[in-house]
Amino acid sequence: MKASRFFIGTLKEAPADAEIVSHKLMVRAGMIRRVAGGIYNYLPIGLRSIRKVEAIVREEMNRAGGLELLMPAVQPAELWQESGRWVQYGPELLRLKDRKQNDFVIGPTHEEVVTDIARNQIKSYRQMPVNFYQIQTKFRDEIRPRFGVMRGREFTMKDAYSFDKDMAGLQESYRKMYEAYVRIFTRIGLEFRAVAADNGSIGGSGSHEFHVIAETGEDSIAYCPTSDFAANVEAADALPLIAERAAPQEALKKTSTPGKAKCEAVAEYLNIPLERTIKSIVLATENEGAEPTIWLLMLRGDHDLNEIKAGKLPGLSGYRFATEEEIVEWFGTPPGYLGPLKTKKPVKVIADTTVAKMSDFVVGSNEVDFHTTGVNWGRDLPEPVVADIRNVRRGDPSPDGKGTLEICRGIEVGHVFQLGAKYSEAMNATFLDENGKPQPMIMGCYGIGITRILGAAIEQNFDERGIIWPEAIAPFEVVLCPMGYDRSDAVREQADKLYAQLVEAGIDVILDDRGERPGVMFADWELIGVPHRLVIGDRGLKEGKIEYQGRRDAEPTLLPVEEAAVTVT
Ligand code: ATP
Ligand code: MG
Ligand code: MG
Ligand code: MG
Repeated sequence: MKASRFFIGTLKEAPADAEIVSHKLMVRAGMIRRVAGGIYNYLPIGLRSIRKVEAIVREEMNRAGGLELLMPAVQPAELWQESGRWVQYGPELLRLKDRKQNDFVIGPTHEEVVTDIARNQIKSYRQMPVNFYQIQTKFRDEIRPRFGVMRGREFTMKDAYSFDKDMAGLQESYRKMYEAYVRIFTRIGLEFRAVAADNGSIGGSGSHEFHVIAETGEDSIAYCPTSDFAANVEAADALPLIAERAAPQEALKKTSTPGKAKCEAVAEYLNIPLERTIKSIVLATENEGAEPTIWLLMLRGDHDLNEIKAGKLPGLSGYRFATEEEIVEWFGTPPGYLGPLKTKKPVKVIADTTVAKMSDFVVGSNEVDFHTTGVNWGRDLPEPVVADIRNVRRGDPSPDGKGTLEICRGIEVGHVFQLGAKYSEAMNATFLDENGKPQPMIMGCYGIGITRILGAAIEQNFDERGIIWPEAIAPFEVVLCPMGYDRSDAVREQADKLYAQLVEAGIDVILDDRGERPGVMFADWELIGVPHRLVIGDRGLKEGKIEYQGRRDAEPTLLPVEEAAVTVT
């Protein structure tokens, strides 16, 4: 690329609404321009970096077996009504009507559409596992769009959705995505941390967020440097996870019972058929005491909540089920939802323990799922420390008992999530299993904030002069700055020659042939953050030298002309 034919929109001043360094620098470097709150133009320089992020994400998604497709941004309301989210999603969902007054949404995410694809296309267990992904524009009417592309309203996401015939399959699909994410963020060159992000009631932790560590992050992360414990402090959903982790592993192992036996015991106890045992979560409150205690009960299959509410649960006198309104008020989400629960009230939440409260019929944990069932806390296992992780401080003991906690700030750049049958049950996405019996597909979903990654990368890599791009996502890898391109034949010839060599070598190089003064040229490319710079001038050429400076280097180095291209390739 030649700078004279490229668009360089660098600015001296940052816009008044830019609070954090990445927002300021992205505007000043000419990467983005605001169109409306949380809505941006991506100018050519910005788009180059976005495309590089996308390319890495695509490569790793394909390597992990993902199949790329493309779903519509505009989605019919009917699908959202089927899943229940037309009502539940709230004002972040941008709704619109077409000319016939039909309702639509602009997709903030695509579980509904992809579940619709799956129910129409997947008929047999033989067609799974399958993982569909796309890189696409999302719209979320964020209450407080800010920080430029970090919390936009319109933004680009890579979203993937896995479909499996059972939980074991989901675990495997989830593991693959988790590993792909580790590769992606490593390749991009970010300092990141995978963090437990939910109640962990299915398969250990059913959800992880990937956070880029940065002071300006909106999330607080508690982690233990001497173990693998890490949780999002602001996700109060981490509470039950911590309760589970508090139980010593050996004790859990000793009392471990296989999942099937557990389900049978529960089915017998609740007097419901086996195929309807433990899976989704309902919530109950206990009437005793001023603060209601909320318990999580796991039920599997197409259980009928009304049947259970009608008193089919022996030993449940003294309890009542929370009303849907209460549950939504406390957790910000309706019953039966398997995703992260957000508590507004300080409640004691222990995964799975309604069953424990109701009877002592079986004590133990499913080793795979790693949740405790039927435990009489204090008698069978040590009383769990239900630490309110929202108030943890640096130096507090880690809930896993393996050290003390550190606290840092993080930017959520990715999220992997075990959905289970939430959408497939709501939308009737079934397949025929090995016995020809219809079963709901078991789903996972996996997001990466493509555009947010740019902001996050800058938050980790900048100085007073501007952005310092990690090489993998820099808009250009090398800039050639000739001193007097329009005046000196020697300089022009050498610059053109180097340029041709680097293009030939497949390097993303820009030749600054604008004829700007050196100060202006250097300031522009330092602001834009190009990792490598070669300066070609008459004085150096007389001695057969070219000046090289890495974006992080304090001083330039003189290189023999013939080594210059090699140094930056
Ligand atoms: P947040 O907690 O920051 O609001 P989220 O949990 O709502 O994010 P997800 O639904 O998990 O987001 O979406 C997957 C990914 O999309 C996130 O991990 C994040 O990287 C990105 N993302 C979400 N919201 C935005 C936004 N408003 N602007 C830019 N990227 C976003
Ligand atoms: Mg959000
Ligand atoms: Mg989040
Ligand atoms: Mg998330």
